[in-house]
Parts: sequence; structure tokens; C-alpha cells
Amino acid sequence: MTYPHLLSPITLGSLTLHNRVVMGSMHTGLEETGDWNRVAEFYATRARGGVGLMVTGGMAPNREGGVFPGAAGLFSAQDIENHRIVTDRVHAAGGRIAMQILHAGRYAYGKDCVSASAVKSPISPFVPQALDEDGIEKQIADIATAAARAIEAGYDGVEVMGSEGYFLNQFLVRHVNRRADRWGGAYENRMRLPLEVVLRVRAAIGEGVLIYRLSLIDLVPDGSSWDEVVQLARAVQAAGADVLNTGIGWHEARVPTIATSVPRAAFAHLTARLRPEVGIPVIASNRINTPEVAEGLLAAGMADMVSMARPFLADPDFVAKAAAGRAAEIAPCIACNQACLDHTFSGKLTSCLVNPRACHETELVIAPAAAPKRVAVVGAGPAGLAAALTAAERGHRVVLFDRAPVVGGQLHLAARVPGKEEFRGLIDWFAARVATSGIETRLGADVVAADLTGFDTVVLASGITPRAAGIAGEAGPQVLGYRDVLRGAPVGPRVAVIGAGGIGFDVAEFLVHQGQSPALDAGLWRREWGVGDPALVPGGLAADGPQPEPPAREVWLLQRKPEKPGRKLGKTTGWIHRAALQMKGVRMLGGVTYDAVTREGLAITVNGVAQLLPVDHVVICAGQEPERGLLAPLQAMGIVPHVIGGADVAAELDAKRAIDQGTRLAAIL
Ligand code: FAD
Ligand code: NAP
Ligand code: SF4
Repeated sequence: MTYPHLLSPITLGSLTLHNRVVMGSMHTGLEETGDWNRVAEFYATRARGGVGLMVTGGMAPNREGGVFPGAAGLFSAQDIENHRIVTDRVHAAGGRIAMQILHAGRYAYGKDCVSASAVKSPISPFVPQALDEDGIEKQIADIATAAARAIEAGYDGVEVMGSEGYFLNQFLVRHVNRRADRWGGAYENRMRLPLEVVLRVRAAIGEGVLIYRLSLIDLVPDGSSWDEVVQLARAVQAAGADVLNTGIGWHEARVPTIATSVPRAAFAHLTARLRPEVGIPVIASNRINTPEVAEGLLAAGMADMVSMARPFLADPDFVAKAAAGRAAEIAPCIACNQACLDHTFSGKLTSCLVNPRACHETELVIAPAAAPKRVAVVGAGPAGLAAALTAAERGHRVVLFDRAPVVGGQLHLAARVPGKEEFRGLIDWFAARVATSGIETRLGADVVAADLTGFDTVVLASGITPRAAGIAGEAGPQVLGYRDVLRGAPVGPRVAVIGAGGIGFDVAEFLVHQGQSPALDAGLWRREWGVGDPALVPGGLAADGPQPEPPAREVWLLQRKPEKPGRKLGKTTGWIHRAALQMKGVRMLGGVTYDAVTREGLAITVNGVAQLLPVDHVVICAGQEPERGLLAPLQAMGIVPHVIGGADVAAELDAKRAIDQGTRLAAIL
């Protein structure tokens, strides 16, 4: 497929772009490392990959507006020089780049944070200081100064962050803006601050491109109405914006907006609704991750451009591959957040589960091998696949073995969980890459040690075996393993799940689900999460709240630790899994002692009280042990394999670690 709309040029103000793809703003943490060569290489790699325009991570206009203490910004002449390293490298690579100015307002993690009124956010411990007239003027002036410095540093323009519940957004809604002066009250007053910012930034950047990021649906009570969104969009245009980027949901919203269970392009209908209301281009964003989806939105006239952020962590060559007819080779962003947002919110450098080179471009280098070797890789799960593909890319001759007839390992089980369908794309991508990599595959047969003679290097990536829970009665017919359940074993209407880790949660989700997956049906998903129409309810939360489909089964999700189940799930996605199961009536218990599985059900003790859960089946999700049955026979033959993935350490293993370890090993073979 070609992508005529996506790959057609567009002019924004004074800037003409090669195509309609924007790399949306992401905080990577790179700027804070102080290694500007590394920052420059991150962006230049994406410029070389053909993206039309990139927007940097949010730069603080001043200390009080930084998302966290020490957040990067253009505060000094040295900062401007540093950023010039980035813009020069991007321009030399043929790219275009705008700098985002992000004032966090009450989301700034510090006691000096400021906002319209002293109204604390539910996701911050700090009560912001309500700004007086001089304070407001200072914030506007600082934002305009940051914009001028961005141009001085060589940026092609700036993006003013006006969505996601940050500072500008906070002035717009009564929810936070309780003022009675000229900055509060009537909407004309509440939008005065964003408009003043746009006017002053416009004056500060001359011909530079001005992108305004506008919140289309706040997803918080008492948010903006659709009429207000349109009114602001028109006013922002009149004040000098060249293009409107779109933001979805405040950070404090209790509706997922970018997680993998959110349907692709779930909010693009709102961009489409805004487009005829204004005379400047509008950009669609959120859960757009393939050229097909992006092209479809543009071809349908729903947007003028498409913003993708995380997909450019997964694959910097997204646009170049699409243009070359090699879309199947684009590494997919599966929207897991595991190596990007989860890292960001844990103070770690951003990367990508699918592409461990993201933000490590200068450190994890895949160079041709000095001497090609014959490499055997046992196990075509993510660890083995990453090792095999990286080794082949370096020129080694690789044979990849798996007893399964297809590559992917446990990713096939993950893909069966409703809301995790994106894992199918990851398997397909691995398969497409293997097909074109020159790797010889030997699938569909168990490997024994004798198969592995005659290789220079053997990599053992044979994964895991599920751990038994060691409960009396566990051998009974009513006890099932999670693999059997996910592969379709019949399960009764009442089920206890033993183990509330990532897999226990996924299995519970699988068991309560029936019918179409909401992740594949935007209407169903919106009903399930209570996403309404901002034209009917300001903020866009449905008046009748979430309306989940009835659960398919009665499920208990259990763990021994005396804490809330799910505490160790992903930092930015755990709450979604917990909320989804709560909506389906799953009973989650911590502090459980398992006494026995009997014909009547599962006998447990909680807080010293014995009870019987009257269940038809018990599903064991009690973690895993490494599967390395081949290790001893290999060693006996004098072969010392490299052991990676679950075969190495099963505890807390995920695909992120498996892929990272496989890639890093093969980079030095
Ligand atoms: P595996 O994926 O287990 O692959 C090992 C391969 O080795 C298998 O294909 C097996 O057939 C093969 N093999 C073993 N022995 C032999 C032999 N003797 N001969 C031939 N072949 C052999 N991780 C995440 O990061 N995010 C998630 O959201 C996520 N969700 C998950 C959901 C579920 C339901 C499950 C089950 C797992 C999930 N995981 C997730 C975990 C992730 O899939 C694993 O961490 C990852 O697959 C481990 O990779 P691996 O390559 O080490 O092992
Ligand atoms: P896990 O996260 O280690 O959880 C294992 C669960 O089993 C825990 O709840 C543990 O809790 C319980 N358990 C351990 N030993 C037990 C025993 N002997 N008897 C009874 N219960 C026992 O492992 P997992 O759920 O199997 O997941 C494997 C890996 O896949 C995880 O590390 C995770 O990273 C990855 N994964 C990730 C996601 C994701 O969304 N990111 C989704 C699925 C899987 P108690 O000890 O308190 O009982
Ligand atoms: Fe996408 Fe997951 Fe990579 Fe983040 S870590 S960019 S969500 S695939």
C-alpha cells in the first residue's frame, strides 16, 4: 500500500514539510543527562527516518513551571548553545523540529508550583500558589522568552502546551480556576491566559511555526464544553497559531487515553469535528500507530496531519519504511508504556520495549561483526528473536529453533488477552523480519543437545515453565494452568485465580470477558469507560458513567502478600487493569493462605478466618521458573551456551527485559 495523503507535503505558516507526520512531544529524560550528543542523535536518527516534523519533550519556561525540580529548559546562554547542537544535527539530516514549551502549573512536582487558584490536583501532593496579576504576567513573559530562545537555538518553531491539564488548561476550567478577576469567571476571562500566551509567543518567534496543543476532551468533571473548545480554537488561530495539535484527557483523568487497551484512533472523531470549525490545519493524535490508520484518517478528511509519539521510539524509520512499501517491517508500538512512560514516571531514561536502542542510539550500537560466526538460537520467544535478528543484522549466520510451529513464544498468549491485541502486531513484525533476515528457521520440533553441535555460539532462550502453587489437591481436574486457559480450555462460571501478578490480572480479564473486545470497537470501549460527548457534558464524561458489559464469570483474584493486588503492575497502566477488573466485579483479595482445592471449591484462610470459595475451577498463575533443561546436556558436550530471557532469570521477567538482553548479547557476539 502507498500512503498518498500521509506522504504529501503541507505548509504550516512559513514552513513546508515533506509529509504530514509529526513526532509528538515525549519527555525522554535525555536533556537532563547533559549529554547533548546523545540528545542530538536521538532526534537526528528520527529526522533521517523521514518524519515531517518533530516536537521536543516539554521544556520548562521557568523553575516553578518545570514538571519536576531540575526539569530542562532554556534558561541560559549555555542552554541555547546545547540546543543548537540538536537543531543543527536535525537540520543537517533534512529534518524539522519545534520545541515544546511546557508549563506544568499545579502538576509541577514542587512546593513552588503555581496555578489559577490554590486547588490541589489529585495526582500531586502540592497545593499550588494562586498567582496574582504580577505573577501571571511573569509566567506569560517567561513562556514568551522561552519561545524567543527556542528560535535563537535554531528550532523551526514552538509548540505551546495547552492541554493535558497543564498550566494553560488549568485557567480554562472552573474546576481549577476559581478566580473572580479578569482571568476568571466568564469563559472570555478564563481563556485570556492561553490567548495572551499565544499572542506574545507569536510576537517572540517571528516567522517560526506556532503549534498550539488544544484539549479536545478533558475527561474530568466540569471540564471544557465543546462550544468552549471551538471558541478557544478560533481565538488561538486569530492570535497567531499556525496549526492545532490535539490533546486528550487531563493527566488526572480516570479514563485511559493511550494504553494498549484504548482502541486505535479512539479520539480522532473529535479532531474531525474540530477541523471544519477553524481555518488552520489540525493534527490528530492518540493511539495512531500504523501508516494504514494514519492514512485512513487523512483520506477520510478527519485531520490534516497525524501525530505519533511512541511509534517513533519503536521505529525511527517509520516514515521511510512506509514510503518504501516496507510497512510490514515497521516495528510496532504496542502501547504498553513499559519502557517509555513507566520509565519516565520512575525517573528513568525513556526507551522502548520493542526497540532497546531508543534513547540509547550512541551506546547500543549494532555494528557489522568482525568475523561472521555460525550461531544457534534455541527459543523463538522475544529473547531469542531479538538475539537472532540482531546477530543476523551483524552478518552472523543464524539458525533459530523452536518447538512451536511459529515464532513468538509467550507473546501468543499475551495476544489472546482482550485489550492486548497489539501483541499480535509485534509477533507479525518479528515474523516478517525473520522472513527477510536470512535466518534459517527450524520450527515445529523439540531441540535436543545433539542438534546444537557444529555451531560457534549457542544461545539458550528457552523461556520458562509455570510454577506450581504447591496446594493440596492441585493435581485435581478442576485445577488449570494459565496456558491451558488462554489456549481455550473449558472453564466454569465461578473461578479462583491463584496469583495476582501480570498474568493473574490478564487471565482474570480473559475470564470475565465475553463478545467483542472493546479495544477493537471504539463505541463499545467509550461506553465501557464512560466517555461521552463534550458537546453534551462539559469535559466529556458520560452522564450515566461507565457502562461495562456484564462479566462472563464470577472471578476471585488472590495473592498471599497482605497488600492490595496489582501494586506491582506497570506504573502508568496498573490502575487501568485494577479499574477494569473492578468494573467487572472481580473480587481481589490479598493476605490469602491457600488450604486446599476440594470438590466443593477452594479452601482459603484470610485474616485467620477459614472460608470456602465455591468455585468450579482454580487457575494457577503463580509465577515461573527458568526452563533450561538443555543446559546440563550441552555442558556435558563441552558447549557453554549464553542463557538469556526467562531461561536466565524467570523472576519479574517481561518482554522488555527479554528483548533488551537478547539485543545486547547479540550486539557483542
Ligand atoms: P518465551 O517467550 O517463553 O519463549 C521461549 C521459547 O522457547 C518458546 O517459544 C518455546 O517453545 C521455546 N523452547 C523452549 N524449550 C525448547 C526446546 N527444547 N526446543 C525447542 N523450543 C524450545 N511481557 C511483557 O513485557 N508485557 C506484557 O504485557 C506481557 N503480558 C503477558 C501476558 C501473558 C498472558 C503471558 C503468558 C506473558 C506475558 N508477558 C508480558 C511475558 C512475556 O511474554 C515473557 O516475559 C517473554 O515472552 C519471555 O521471553 P523469552 O524469550 O524468554 O521466553
Ligand atoms: P509474577 O508477577 O511474579 O506474579 C506471580 C504471582 O504468583 C504473584 O501474585 C505471587 O503473589 C504469586 N505466587 C508466587 N509463588 C506462588 C506460590 N508458590 N503459590 C501461590 N502463589 C504464588 O508473575 P506472572 O504474573 O506469572 O507474570 C510473569 C511476568 O510476566 C511478570 O514478571 C510480568 O512482568 C510479565 N507480565 C507483564 C504484564 C504487563 O502488563 N506488563 C502482563 C503479564 C505478564 P504471592 O506470592 O503474594 O502469592
Ligand atoms: Fe510503545 Fe511500549 Fe515502546 Fe513505549 S515501550 S514506545 S508503549 S512499544
